Amino acid sequence: MVEIKSTQIGKESMRLEQLLENIKFLRFFLFRLLHKAKLIYLLLIFAISIGVSGWTVESNLIRIPLIGFHDIVDTQNPAQLPPKRLAFSIDYTKQDLSVFLEYIIKENYWLLSSQDLYVYFIDKSQPIPARRLGQKPIMISFDDGYKGVHKNALPILEKLSLIHKKKGKFVLFVNPHFLGVDMGRDFLPHTTCNDLRDGYKKGFYDVQSHGFTHKNLTQISGKGLEFEIAKSKLELRKCMGDLDKNKLIGAHIAYPYGASDSEVEELLPKYHLTGFLYDDHLFRVNRLKNNYRISRITVDKDMSPRALIRIAKKASTLTKKESL
Ligand SMILES: [Zn+2]
Repeated sequence: MVEIKSTQIGKESMRLEQLLENIKFLRFFLFRLLHKAKLIYLLLIFAISIGVSGWTVESNLIRIPLIGFHDIVDTQNPAQLPPKRLAFSIDYTKQDLSVFLEYIIKENYWLLSSQDLYVYFIDKSQPIPARRLGQKPIMISFDDGYKGVHKNALPILEKLSLIHKKKGKFVLFVNPHFLGVDMGRDFLPHTTCNDLRDGYKKGFYDVQSHGFTHKNLTQISGKGLEFEIAKSKLELRKCMGDLDKNKLIGAHIAYPYGASDSEVEELLPKYHLTGFLYDDHLFRVNRLKNNYRISRITVDKDMSPRALIRIAKKASTLTKKESL
């Protein structure tokens, strides 16, 4: 019995030893696991930091919303509503524009001219002025030179500028062939040369080309193509050249229908510094490969002011780093 007991004790102690061994192994295993986990943890931190630094690089890209409107309609004026005036999907209301502009002006945005965009962000031939630091750049443009812009949009900007003591530019891409043309109901009335001069003298208009007769530039070529581009610039200069000592009127172009191709782009450096598309992409300065393919976002009647504000919020805030 004693023997049996001693054997049992021996067995017990063996079990105990085994248990201790197991615990030792478990500790070793846990240690290794923790060690590995530490490695995994470190790797994770590393991966996250790469991700974050990637994001930082991304955030270092200067993002500038370039927003493109067409005609602006006052919904409180029956003369500007059907049946008096046809409604188009690319119309935008004065009331919604007012909400959007109020946000932009209040929130300290920099309403760029096309030359500002070129000089400070594309060509970078000049540092961003110190007074612009802390601001968010945005470009607000209107294509086709409709009268509604002068009648309905300009007064909003004038009023807001007066209230908030801040000035900004509207970029107007116009077709000089249609200046002052008003053919009634089926063809929207266009601004006159005097309207453009008025908005320019007040410091709110930046007037640029949209081709002479709004032809799709990719569907014409040779002399016809060059005529559309050259004549537009010539006529804009005739209309306002005396006000424009720096020859910045007509220095830039927005393609009718947002359409451009290699033949157009080969010809452009002779006449223009930049060319604007309609591709609905947010403009990222550092990713720009070609001055003649600058992204713009088209606005239509279904885009709420809130949606526009969401786009505007994507703009980078300019810091000292960007001004260097
Ligand atoms: Zn157009």
